[in-house]
Amino acid sequence: MADHKTGWSLIDNSSEAKLNEISRGYINFLNSVKTEFEAVDYFIERLERNEFSNIENSEKLRPGSKFYLNHMGRTLAAGIIGKKGIDNGLFVIASHIDSPRIDLKPKPVYEDVETNTVLLKTQYYGGVKKYQWVNRSLALHGRVYTKGGREIKLRIGEEPDDPVFVIPDLLPHIADKVQGERKLFEGIKGEEMNAIFGSIPGQTRKDQFKNNVLKILKDRYDIEEEDLASADLYLVPSDKARESGLDASMIGGYGHDDKASSYACFHAFMDIEKPDDTVLVLFYDKEEIGSMGATGSQSNLLEYLVTQVIHKLKGNADHLEVLSLLRKSKVISSDVDAAMDPSFKDAHDTYNAAKLGGGIVITKYTGSGGKFMSSEAPAEFVAYLRNIFEKHKVKYQFGTLGKVDEGGGGTVAQDFARYGMSVIDAGPPVLGMHSPFELVSKVDMWSSYHAYLAFMMH
Ligand code: MN
Ligand code: MN
Repeated sequence: MADHKTGWSLIDNSSEAKLNEISRGYINFLNSVKTEFEAVDYFIERLERNEFSNIENSEKLRPGSKFYLNHMGRTLAAGIIGKKGIDNGLFVIASHIDSPRIDLKPKPVYEDVETNTVLLKTQYYGGVKKYQWVNRSLALHGRVYTKGGREIKLRIGEEPDDPVFVIPDLLPHIADKVQGERKLFEGIKGEEMNAIFGSIPGQTRKDQFKNNVLKILKDRYDIEEEDLASADLYLVPSDKARESGLDASMIGGYGHDDKASSYACFHAFMDIEKPDDTVLVLFYDKEEIGSMGATGSQSNLLEYLVTQVIHKLKGNADHLEVLSLLRKSKVISSDVDAAMDPSFKDAHDTYNAAKLGGGIVITKYTGSGGKFMSSEAPAEFVAYLRNIFEKHKVKYQFGTLGKVDEGGGGTVAQDFARYGMSVIDAGPPVLGMHSPFELVSKVDMWSSYHAYLAFMMH
């Protein structure tokens, strides 16, 4: 991959080298990490290589201690105890490592003898425009837990010789009546999102196709049909992430929401040395479906972790201490924002929309309409962050998500606000968010890295 010449006068040579290092690393990350499971594995491998230890196994923490917490293999936290301990509150960056995708249903496999096909029933995960996910190559990722108690990690469709899977759309020649009158978002409906799992023509006996495909599943992966019910299996785009634009100024790939933020955050976290104050980075699952569940940010994982930290620093931790520490801590909710779409500017307030290449976006509030369901950052915390960014010469911009009455969205910010923590959203802008191939600017990746580093070191 050629080094990218940005032409930005704001960027000096060493920054440009860092920008290229981050871009390269991020492309590799996207190609090896497409699910929350894979993100946790990827992070833990690097944490352990850098002397971070599992907090459950550490007797004591002291200034300089490096630790992590693995929650169900899907959500991860890591931290470094600052030289000054925890007296000034914690400096927390929280992102999410799940991305929109197409999940398999608990009983996914069925055959359709009339069409000579074996198919997979699916259910989309997160806010997807379903029509974007048809007629493209999909890989099958996830974990299967067998009746015998084994865990099988699946990743089919990423190697050049692997098969891929496709959800077929109807050809345009005969689609006028069936689809032509539908609204765009209903072009393909949930129950029409069936992926072709196999096809062996010439057989007519019932179950013949299905049994043939299931035999392959058994022979190759040692998985029985009923094991698919105790599985987390996802169809994700099999495309490789790559540079985009003739000037290679962008990275195209699946899962920028929110791997762009989580990668920038992790990279910055691994680059800090001996912070003054205690730093935590959190990588959550389930954000795309509302952050519920044991591995989502609505769980009390943070409270558990902070209790552990105080306990292992001081020998005990009472609830008042935990809540007091949380209340004086600061959080960046590190999630992507929408970059203004050049062909659909009407959906944005062009004065307040983030621009591709404009640097990390500070989003004071999300929500929709009259700020409903938003966790709005207090103005003084916006000022605090702005001052840090100015001090460290971070390239940043302010943004809002679309026109006032155009829709909206939310992030994990509200789950920190619940503890009275100062929290604000800040992450790179993304074009084509929630699509199978999103775009992010290299400059914004670098700027986000720089911003997270500045916040942790402040
Ligand atoms: Mn997100
Ligand atoms: Mn999202």
